[in-house]
Amino acid sequence: MEKRKITCISCPLGCEIEAEINGDDITIKGNRCSRGKEYALNEIKDPRRVVTSNVKVTGGQFPLASVKTTGAIPKGKIFSLIEKLREVELEAPVNIGQVVYKNLFDSGFDVVVTRPVERR
Ligand code: SF4
Repeated sequence: MEKRKITCISCPLGCEIEAEINGDDITIKGNRCSRGKEYALNEIKDPRRVVTSNVKVTGGQFPLASVKTTGAIPKGKIFSLIEKLREVELEAPVNIGQVVYKNLFDSGFDVVVTRPVERR
């Protein structure tokens, strides 16, 4: 049996959840509401994260533009995403919401610009 401690981040209370994992049999304790159970089960079975990062910009007031995924992608794909973003070079002007990658890894989510960069 494996035991894991997970902090629920679904609300500011931050419940400390303890999970006992026996194959497909998972027992969750310490959650104050059902959202905590759902969060813990997702963390165990299919952890996902919204990713924020930067991409290079040429000809702009700033050399970088911040970007983020429009939804939580599988945690196991984060390294591949960071590698992909290293290859990106946008030309200023760069606008908020500008799509850098569409339907990233078939996730249904995009990578979009979150900070505009004006032309120099
Ligand atoms: S389990 Fe419920 S009450 Fe506790 S942090 Fe998660 S959402 Fe908040």
